[in-house]
Amino acid sequence: MPTKFRTDRTDSMTEVRDLRTGVPVWASGGHSTFAGAPLLSPAKADVVIVGSGITGALMALAASQKGLSTIVIDRRPPAQGSTAASTALLQFEIDTPLIRLADRVGMERASRAWLRCFHAVDDLAYLVRRLRIPCDFRQRRALYLAGETLSAVEMAEEGRQRERIGLPSTFLSAAKLRSLVGIERNAALLSDHVADLNPVRLTLGLLRRAARAGCRIHSPVQLAEVAASGHGVQMVTSDGIELEAKALVFATGYELADGVPSAGHRRTSTWAFATAPQAGALWGNGELIWEARNPYLYLRTTADGRVLVGGEDEDFSDAATRDALLPKKIDALQKKARQLFPTLNVDAEFAWAGTFGESENSLPSIGAIPGMPNCYAVLGYGGNGFTFAMIAAQIIEAQLFCQTDPDADLFAFDR
Ligand SMILES: Cc1cc2nc3c(=O)[nH]c(=O)nc-3n(C[C@H](O)[C@H](O)[C@H](O)COP(=O)(O)OP(=O)(O)OC[C@H]3O[C@@H](n4cnc5c(N)ncnc54)[C@H](O)[C@@H]3O)c2cc1C
Repeated sequence: MPTKFRTDRTDSMTEVRDLRTGVPVWASGGHSTFAGAPLLSPAKADVVIVGSGITGALMALAASQKGLSTIVIDRRPPAQGSTAASTALLQFEIDTPLIRLADRVGMERASRAWLRCFHAVDDLAYLVRRLRIPCDFRQRRALYLAGETLSAVEMAEEGRQRERIGLPSTFLSAAKLRSLVGIERNAALLSDHVADLNPVRLTLGLLRRAARAGCRIHSPVQLAEVAASGHGVQMVTSDGIELEAKALVFATGYELADGVPSAGHRRTSTWAFATAPQAGALWGNGELIWEARNPYLYLRTTADGRVLVGGEDEDFSDAATRDALLPKKIDALQKKARQLFPTLNVDAEFAWAGTFGESENSLPSIGAIPGMPNCYAVLGYGGNGFTFAMIAAQIIEAQLFCQTDPDADLFAFDR
C-alpha cells in the first residue's frame, strides 16, 4: 500500500520560497536559453527528478547517460532557482575547516569528506571538458585568509592536516601573502584544484546533454502530491497530471519537500555584487579569495574581467527583510573589498541577494529519505552547492542501481 505524502499546502509538495532578488551578473550578455516543454499528459519513467538547478541537471545527466528513462520537472524555467544566484566558486574547501570538522565527526570521517569534495571538483572539471560545455570554466587557485575563526597558528595546523591527507594546500606567512597578492593578513592557505564558472551556462549545458541522452525536461510543472511504496512512486502535479516512476529525486534546493527530515538544517541570507570589467586592475592570478571569519567575505573574478564580491551572511528571517538589506549589505561588502584592495573599483553594476540552506557541520544530507520508499533528496548545501551537487549525483546514481557509494554514510539522512 503506497504511503501518501501530501502537504498542508494544496498544490505543492515542497515549500514555496522567494529564493533570490536583484539581478545576478549572469544576466549580462544574455542567457543562452533552454525552455522546458509543457507536460500535457500522464507519463512514466524510471526516475523523476524534481528541480532543474545544478543538482537536478547533474542528476538528470547521470541517470539518462546510464540508460534510465528520466523526466525532470520544475515549476520555474530551467536553472532559474538558487542556481542563477550562485557566485559559482567551485571549491573542495568546505565552510568547516578540516581540523574543526575532525573535532565534530572524527578525523577519519572528516578526511573522507574533504577528500570526496576534492575529487568532486575534479570530476566536475572532467565532465565539463569531456562534454565541452561552454560555461567559462577556469581552473583557479584559492586563498583562504586567516581571521577570527582560524588564527595564523590554527591555519598552519589546518595546512599540515590537509597536506597529511594529500590535499593541495600550502601555508603562506604574512610576508608571502603580501608578495603574492598585496593583502595584509597574518597568514593564508593557498590551494590548487579549485575553479570558477558561469553557473547558468553550466546547468543549461548539462540539461541539454541530458536531453540528448533522452531525458524529458518539463516546465513549468509543479509537483503537488506523492504516494510512495516499495514498488515505485506515483505523483500528481498541480495541474492534476499523473506521473509514475520507479524512483523520485527531490533536487528542490532550499524549498524543502514534505517528509524530508530537516533537523539541524538552517537558512542563511547572503548578498553579492559584480563590478564592470576591469581586467587590468586585478590581483595576482585572479585567485579566489575567502576569509576565516563569520560572516566571511569572498571575491572572485569573471572571464570578462569583472570582480564578484559576496558574503555578509546572516540567519534568514524572511525574504522582505533580506531584500530590504540589499543596499546596506552591498555597501558593507564594498568597504571590505576596498580594505583588501584599496585601488579596486568596487562600483556595483549588478547586485543581488539569495538564500541558502546549511547544516551545522557544513555537510549536506544526501540519499534515500527515511520512511519514503524509493524517494531520494539532497539537503543543506552551504557555500559549496556545486561541489555537493556533484557528490549528490554520484551517490544517488549508485543508489538507483542498488550499489553502495563508499562515502554515502558520511551524508546519509540517518547518519
Ligand atoms: C548568492 C549565492 C551565492 C552562492 N555561491 C556559491 C558558490 O560560490 N559556490 C557554490 O558551490 N555554491 C554557491 N551557492 C549555493 C548554490 O548556488 C546552491 O547550493 C545551488 O545552486 C543549489 O542548486 P539546486 O539545484 O539544488 O537548487 P535550485 O537551483 O534552487 O533548483 C531547485 C529547483 O527545484 C524547483 N522546485 C522546488 N520545488 C518544486 C516543486 N514542488 N515542483 C517543481 N519544481 C520544484 C525550483 O523551482 C528550483 O528551480 C550560492 C548561493 C547563493 C544564493
